[in-house]
Amino acid sequence: MAKAEETVLEIDLKALTHNFNYLKSKLRPETKFLAVVKAFAYGSDAIEVGKYLENIGADYLAVAYAKEGVALRDSGVSLPILVLHPQPVNFKTLIDRCLEPSLYSMNVLNEFITIAEKGGQRQYPVHIKFNTGLNRLGFDFSDVGAITMQLKKTDAIKAKSLFSHMAASEDLDEIAFTKQQIVRFKNITKEITSQIGYQPWLHMCNTSGVLNFPEAHFDMVRCGIGLYGFGNSPIEDKNFIPIASLKSIISQIHTVKKGDSVGYNRAFTAKEMTKTATIPIGHADGLNRNYGKGNGYVSINKQKAPIIGNVCMDMIMVNVTNIECTEGEEVIIFDARHTANDLAKSANTISYEILTSISQRVKRVYLK
Ligand SMILES: *Cc1c(COP(=O)(O)O)cnc(C)c1O
Repeated sequence: MAKAEETVLEIDLKALTHNFNYLKSKLRPETKFLAVVKAFAYGSDAIEVGKYLENIGADYLAVAYAKEGVALRDSGVSLPILVLHPQPVNFKTLIDRCLEPSLYSMNVLNEFITIAEKGGQRQYPVHIKFNTGLNRLGFDFSDVGAITMQLKKTDAIKAKSLFSHMAASEDLDEIAFTKQQIVRFKNITKEITSQIGYQPWLHMCNTSGVLNFPEAHFDMVRCGIGLYGFGNSPIEDKNFIPIASLKSIISQIHTVKKGDSVGYNRAFTAKEMTKTATIPIGHADGLNRNYGKGNGYVSINKQKAPIIGNVCMDMIMVNVTNIECTEGEEVIIFDARHTANDLAKSANTISYEILTSISQRVKRVYLK
């Protein structure tokens, strides 16, 4: 790739193929692969990435909200799309655009049935979500009877799948808890399947579930972060390639005298003669203020340059006193070497957050 000449998020589609193939290699051949492309495919680009995943053989896509599914349909994606967290106000749109809802409460189940019936639907595919311990979204075991009653009363919808979500699949200290979630899921799905008289697909694993709980792959898995290059553990991280690199350029270099300050509110004061570089990326681009005041660093000529002072809306200043560099030189905020995960740790957060924070203002470029 040519050196960055402005702030860009470079997306390596070959790395995406690698990650997809690695995750697929963990599955039985018949297990389906749902690619989670919510939040702009974890801050990259849902359209480019969604289409690419469709081409390389993903079976299903998922987004969080209706609007995200509509954008994929507008771009011509034809894979089935599961909407993980829809609201009743969007149910008509979901049906119009062939988007499949997760139904997670009696209220949303009943609302969806009403709208599907009004629209004259027959066997519209829906996915019923069960809470097995995350206590976030989903029906409980005690709802099984009521769900069955509703499903039997109507021909407008059909449960294509039953699913649940793990609370701590990446945490090997919580194996007992996750195994209990798996048992609960099996019990719930056995009961509902026997009551409705047909077998919907079952799925419960996210990326770390795929890696750590092969016994819970069931009929489909739902992978997000792994596709984007992170395995949620130092060992697994080595098997993935981060697909997104955030790059920028040095706009200006300053020499700051001892005692002078840098940036808003004078948050950095030079203890000695300090060479600083100003870089066109700020909190409006997704680089949170917590990366400032020496917490985070960028990489220039493979050397660490700490972010000094406060992160501005459109800029950061970094300390390059001991780094040979010039104006116009490339700056790496994160890439496959200085990873989003490393950077995230410096602000007490996780790769998921820094990736999904990269704002739409940052230009996306693709390595194909
Ligand atoms: C976001 C999400 C996933 C993907 O999780 P990763 O850890 O990124 O693989 C899977 N399932 C549900 C319900 C989700 O919300």
